[in-house]
Amino acid sequence: MYDLEAVRAQFPILARTIYNKYPLVYLDNGATTQKPRQVVEAMTEEYYNVNANVHRGVHFLSQQATELHERSREVVRRFLNASSANEILFTRGTTESINLVAACFGQAFMKEGDEVIVSEMEHHSNIVSWQLLQQRIGIRLRVVPVTEEGRLDMEAYERLFTPRTRIVSITHVSNVLGTVNPIKEVIRIAHAHDVPVLVDAAQSVPHMSVDVQALDCDFLAFSGHKIYGPTGIGVLYGKETWLDRMPPYMGGGEMIEHVSFEKTTFNALPYKFEAGTPDYVASTGLAQAIHFVNELGMDNIQAHESELTRYAMEQLGNLPAVHVFGPKGDDHDAVVSFQVGHIHHLDMGTLLDRLGIAVRTGHHCAEPLMHRLGVEGTCRASFALYNTKAEVDALVQGIRRVRVMLE
Ligand code: PLP
Repeated sequence: MYDLEAVRAQFPILARTIYNKYPLVYLDNGATTQKPRQVVEAMTEEYYNVNANVHRGVHFLSQQATELHERSREVVRRFLNASSANEILFTRGTTESINLVAACFGQAFMKEGDEVIVSEMEHHSNIVSWQLLQQRIGIRLRVVPVTEEGRLDMEAYERLFTPRTRIVSITHVSNVLGTVNPIKEVIRIAHAHDVPVLVDAAQSVPHMSVDVQALDCDFLAFSGHKIYGPTGIGVLYGKETWLDRMPPYMGGGEMIEHVSFEKTTFNALPYKFEAGTPDYVASTGLAQAIHFVNELGMDNIQAHESELTRYAMEQLGNLPAVHVFGPKGDDHDAVVSFQVGHIHHLDMGTLLDRLGIAVRTGHHCAEPLMHRLGVEGTCRASFALYNTKAEVDALVQGIRRVRVMLE
């Protein structure tokens, strides 16, 4: 598939020793991924040799920076297979992308009493953004329940549609359960009701091919930092037919055509939604990250990570008193949440850390799902293209040691 050692060598941080003793075992990729050299080097090169503000200068550097920035947009367009670069908006991340849709779609197409369908397994960003709109104009949230196995209850989903349903906003992959939702079916059902769909792809885009035209989603959001790119940049894909009819998100430079105190007109897509100086260096980093992933091949990455996920679920499942959350089938990817007996997740995470193993603990920004699971939090191991089976073994050994210490 690919040479794992050669790939790991591209990520200097993976060679670190933690507490001067243990090799780093980084299993918190769902929170953020590490960065390969080519991402950091491309950004450094831009700061050292190209830096100038984009879209505003006639001078050489500004033209070059603008060309790089727009080339990055084209890289993202191809990566998602969007039909036009006008449909690719740069944002600060998934959170901003979802807030943009809630605010601007909400303003254009929703009024008091209208409904958005979300699910019980959403990240807070896909709940609270809609609650803000609820507070502003009185919309209602309808919630798809999660089954005992950790899947969306698709029958309940179908029943949630009413004549007031205006949009569905649902995650592709759960950041807690690792559930890969049947997103194509979710979209098909919504479209049968003439309702558009926003897909939160924060946890899917780094792990599987996502083709917005094949999915036929109306909006899709992801974060650069979860796919080996820099922090501070993300993407909102939106169909032109929707974006054209939505008002701008923020006011400022870039997003206008003409400004006067009597009347201001707005810029064309995608700039209408990109007020202010964009993070044009981060867009270069994101494009490099996408090149990196493309060179390895998304199918190879997915095969490797699925194998790791299967192995981790099997090994953790074999440990006494360990409960693994999420579906036990092929629709479980890259994220494994678990609970060990009565050991508090925070104690487990803290002691694993003392062994150099980085896992996430807590509610994972998904408190409603924690209520559904009847827990306060979990430990979560989440995988990336550079993780190894030996690291899963280290996690299993670590859990054994913590149990001896605490039980
Ligand atoms: N949605 C999901 C499913 C996530 O896992 C996350 C991050 O953990 C987000 C949204 C928010 O992403 P960001 O903080 O990069 O905006």
